[in-house]
Amino acid sequence: EKQNQKFEMKNVELEKVRVELEEQARQLNLSSKYKSEFLANISHELRTPLNSLLILSNLLSENKEETLSPKQVKFAKTIHASGKELLSLINDILDLSKIESGKMNLNLSKVFIKDIAEYIESNFRIMASDKNLGFKIELQDGLPEFIYSDEVKINQVLKNLLSNAFKFTNSGEVRLSVGVDYSSTQPSVVFSVSDTGIGIAEENQALIFEAFQQVDGTTSRRFGGTGLGLSISKEIANLLNGKIFLYSLEGKGSTFSFQVGNYKDEESFDSPREV
Ligand code: ADP
Repeated sequence: EKQNQKFEMKNVELEKVRVELEEQARQLNLSSKYKSEFLANISHELRTPLNSLLILSNLLSENKEETLSPKQVKFAKTIHASGKELLSLINDILDLSKIESGKMNLNLSKVFIKDIAEYIESNFRIMASDKNLGFKIELQDGLPEFIYSDEVKINQVLKNLLSNAFKFTNSGEVRLSVGVDYSSTQPSVVFSVSDTGIGIAEENQALIFEAFQQVDGTTSRRFGGTGLGLSISKEIANLLNGKIFLYSLEGKGSTFSFQVGNYKDEESFDSPREV
């Protein structure tokens, strides 16, 4: 009898703790949701005034009426460049908060590998010649014509990876190689971005995928950036049921591989259909 009473009391206590923990978890979820919503709203509100600042400083820097001194034109250009940096930071924060609050929508369609290659070519060819770097895009044999996924998001990830590759490489080349990985049950396309740049020390390789993390050093400071690109890319890869792998040797260069297959698991790789 006594033993039973003891058990019952224990159960009552345990139940109390469980209810308390549940309430705490609910509060945490709520505040995390509020944080994401707050960030999304504020980012949105910041964009409107920033856009007029960008348009007007751009107009000024063109100096069409030739009323400005060279120094004033230079100031207008600096305002414009800083505004653009701020806009990309705001867009990154908006993206992250959308992902965190589950509001990042996917736009699924056939994504033609050829279109991706052309988009990347047109976005980075000038950058390569400006920095005097080799730039190759290589489509390996056996690629499918298209996968079923989100083209804008795939381009966003690849743009992040390629911008970094160019940013952290001063000699040699940057390469995008597209191949197929048959190792899992669902074959997938692998976009590998390699550079011959500064590389990333092993102890920093996991860290750089976290928000606002940059490898400390003069290079990252000199080149600016927010430290958000890779964490957004990782989240987008997750959303697309894909993955990003990193292989890097400090001082030698890095390869970031973005693996992504057809969005729907049940979709067969050879015959994607539209839903
Ligand atoms: P950002 O480029 O804005 O700093 P990212 O999240 O894209 O932010 O990258 C985080 C950090 O990872 C960079 O600041 C840099 O230290 C390191 N990194 C990323 N890509 C490369 C690369 N290709 N080579 C060397 N370091 C890199």
